Amino acid sequence: MNKEYDVVIIGGGPAGLSAGLYTARSRLKSLLIEKEMIGGKIVNAELVENYPGFPEGINGYELTQLMHRQATRFGLKTLTAEVTALDVSGKQKIVKTNEGDLTARAIIIASGSKEQTLNVPGEKEFTGRGVSYCATCDAALFAELPVAVVGGGNAAVYDALQLAKFASSVVVVHRRQELRATRITQEQAFAEPKIKFLWNTVVESIDGADTVKSLKLRNVVTGEKSNLEVGGVFVAIGFKPNTAYLKGLLPLDEAGYIITNEKMEASVPGILAAGDIRSNSIRQLVSAAGDGATAAIYAERYLTASR
Ligand SMILES: Cc1cc2nc3c(=O)[nH]c(=O)nc-3n(C[C@H](O)[C@H](O)[C@H](O)COP(=O)(O)OP(=O)(O)OC[C@H]3O[C@@H](n4cnc5c(N)ncnc54)[C@H](O)[C@@H]3O)c2cc1C
Repeated sequence: MNKEYDVVIIGGGPAGLSAGLYTARSRLKSLLIEKEMIGGKIVNAELVENYPGFPEGINGYELTQLMHRQATRFGLKTLTAEVTALDVSGKQKIVKTNEGDLTARAIIIASGSKEQTLNVPGEKEFTGRGVSYCATCDAALFAELPVAVVGGGNAAVYDALQLAKFASSVVVVHRRQELRATRITQEQAFAEPKIKFLWNTVVESIDGADTVKSLKLRNVVTGEKSNLEVGGVFVAIGFKPNTAYLKGLLPLDEAGYIITNEKMEASVPGILAAGDIRSNSIRQLVSAAGDGATAAIYAERYLTASR
């Protein structure tokens, strides 16, 4: 395998695939490195209803396979490997992987983020069948159903407010006695009659048949156990950016996401970031794809200017 590229893209989710489409169509010698399956987080989504161009919705895996095929048609190469470190000190940057080292003149970081999971029985089994990590994506699928949201930060309360527009009722299950969300968000949630709170409570298991039917709960103060009937559960306990391999190379925000300007440039020339890994990303497919395109165009301009 040739080891010198104009652009190396780290991550084969929608941001990386969109970046790869644009760099390959610009005739840049482009390599996308993905450590798992091409497609990123969305491969687990049964039905994506908010990506433009698919009026009936599309399966997440299918959508990203189409993206990959499209980019490959224009010459994007793909390597299955894990990026373990970068050396960005020179003009020719070094990408270290468990399959060996490569060089690139520009790097687009699109390694995304990973949702924090509850790690309880039933969670994995029912993901996409009642367990969701994205209310913006899935709230409309739970119209007139009782749902639960697990968490107590801003994300959980925003999710509860979003779900209240569709669900018949929303129970926020929080392991503490009070929320961590901002005061104004809390006030909005307390004022919404559909939203109720279960304090000091954790989920012990998620149960159902084809889809989620109920949650087993435990009060962490009294030890009391209970059952909550729900048609869905939204886990909103945070995401972790996949930045371990960056090891202090780039400034990150307080939650660990890469800070970029509006051109997707990180603070080292020739290093750009796109998608969920970026600070203040709205964490949607359409924004990931948009970021990828922007990063690719500014990577090309950087390469032209630094020849
Ligand atoms: C269950 C679920 C349903 C969703 N539904 C919707 C929806 O309906 N609509 C919507 O708009 N959004 C939805 N989202 C959000 C959407 O999936 C994300 O916003 C989108 O996937 C972000 O794309 P990304 O390319 O930035 O990152 P990711 O999709 O996270 O992809 C990053 C990729 O980088 C790889 N990677 C990480 N580290 C390395 C490394 N060191 N070396 C090599 N590769 C690496 C990962 O394996 C991964 O494949 C959903 C998310 C989930 C979890």
